[in-house]
Amino acid sequence: MTNLWQTCTLVMTNLWQACCKLKLLSGTISKWTGNRVQDRLIARIISKTIITPSLLHRFNLHPDPLCIVCNENNDISHILLKRKKYASFRVIIWNKLNIVDPNITYDVLLSHVFTNKKNLTMFIQTLKYFDIS
Ligand SMILES: [Zn+2]
Repeated sequence: MTNLWQTCTLVMTNLWQACCKLKLLSGTISKWTGNRVQDRLIARIISKTIITPSLLHRFNLHPDPLCIVCNENNDISHILLKRKKYASFRVIIWNKLNIVDPNITYDVLLSHVFTNKKNLTMFIQTLKYFDIS
């Protein structure tokens, strides 16, 4: 019973923090596109709250937060930057975003994505080819 209560408290705390972060961000990014769905997706990209095994694990909804191939934390950053199955696809996107260095951080990727609206639109459209929801 105690264990269940602790789990509930943890989930609520995490949800509260995620909500605060999104609320904070939504004020500054709402003008990026006129599209509510896309704006929400952009807020999730910035706050790293895209649904991934790693994020689900934090809410006790997924047994394993690690990538089964490389044993790294299976979050949005890993999926976009590291996962091998997207290597050739990544080359095309990186080229369109003018990213030369193949070993970049998530923040550097975002800085290229948010350089202009053309990059942002292209990036949002390509996200559907990655195995994320
Ligand atoms: Zn991996």
